Amino acid sequence: MATLDLRQQFPILNRMVKGKPLVYFDNAATAQKPQRVIDALTHYYTHYNANIHRGIHTLAEEATAAYEAARHTAQEFIGAAAPEEIIFTRGTTEGINLVAYTWGRQNVGAGDEIIISGMEHHSNIVPWQILCEEKGAILKVIPVNDNGELAMDVYRSLLSNKTKLVSVVHVSNSLGTVNPVKEIIDAAHRAGARVLLDGAQSAVHMDIDVQAINCDFFAFSGHKVYGPTGVGVLYGKKELLESMPVFQGGGEMIKEVTFEKTIYNDLPYKYEAGTPNIADTIALKAALDFISETGKQQIRDHENELLAYATAQLQAIPGLTIIGNAKEKVSLVSFIIKDIHPQDVGVLLDNQGIAVRTGHHCTQPLMARFGIPGTIRASFALYNQKEEIDALVTSLHKTIKMLL
Ligand SMILES: *Cc1c(COP(=O)(O)O)cnc(C)c1O
Repeated sequence: MATLDLRQQFPILNRMVKGKPLVYFDNAATAQKPQRVIDALTHYYTHYNANIHRGIHTLAEEATAAYEAARHTAQEFIGAAAPEEIIFTRGTTEGINLVAYTWGRQNVGAGDEIIISGMEHHSNIVPWQILCEEKGAILKVIPVNDNGELAMDVYRSLLSNKTKLVSVVHVSNSLGTVNPVKEIIDAAHRAGARVLLDGAQSAVHMDIDVQAINCDFFAFSGHKVYGPTGVGVLYGKKELLESMPVFQGGGEMIKEVTFEKTIYNDLPYKYEAGTPNIADTIALKAALDFISETGKQQIRDHENELLAYATAQLQAIPGLTIIGNAKEKVSLVSFIIKDIHPQDVGVLLDNQGIAVRTGHHCTQPLMARFGIPGTIRASFALYNQKEEIDALVTSLHKTIKMLL
């Protein structure tokens, strides 16, 4: 992969941090944006800013066309059957909450069970706790083994006719584990349960085909796929979205309102109340086009190479332990260093221009499972290079010398 050509499309990668060239390894928190995404935003505000769907003037028509084109691109990006199955949200968190507040309230009752996993992000734990508390339902958790993989035998034993939903992360943001979602989904369906996938990490690293894996819901965030913050996608199977109650009430989600009764709009507008995030949604299309044109397989190959290289280099550092050694893993390494707090490492790496994430990564129960307060996480994107991993390794040696 021509990484250099690709790197040049990301203007932020030219900046210096603390007098050193930026090495950006916090991609699992948010990815940087290529120029075309930034251009899509300014182009919209400079040339055709208007509210969508309602206006009949030229600007409104252009903005509506661009917004709906983004829906088609998102549909193709994850292999959904129809554009109505694509709901624009604020991000993964809002997508999961939407399902909890609509489908969840309609379908989960007292004594019912929801299964999540031990490696969930807080945004795939808390909405289900809120729902379970409200409904008297029970939250069950698939344990994580020492390698950072799901205990699939326990998962199968948790499934029963009480299980209404299985909501699991596709790729762990803390460990990099790729979960066997096809197996998880097929087993859940045999038990009569629905499945939501948290695709916040998988959407950027893997080819997603929601019809092939047959999930019922899939949520991801724009800002982790080289797009803007404040926009995301919730996919849902059409028959489910049609039968679910509405989420927020307001403009756009209605067909007709009187004081006696409101008739709701058709999909997907039924779930998009109010003026949506037009500019960022249009720029999300530019990000998804960028990924597709670069080629998901090429991106994956490059990132796998970085992962293998980083794993070998980091493992060789005395006192360093990698947390998460799943057989199926993508694009990030989480680690701890004996007798050193992760945060101290993060600060010293930043002094050398290297951005990593330290802490619990919004997965506190998972950190508790490994008996650690947090990790140091280096997560890779298509623009990262082996030379940057070398810089990280050199800096880690220096850091350890300073702190021990
Ligand atoms: C980032 C992330 C989320 C939350 O995404 P937001 O963009 O903050 O809504 C959820 N799950 C995983 C696995 C993530 O990495």
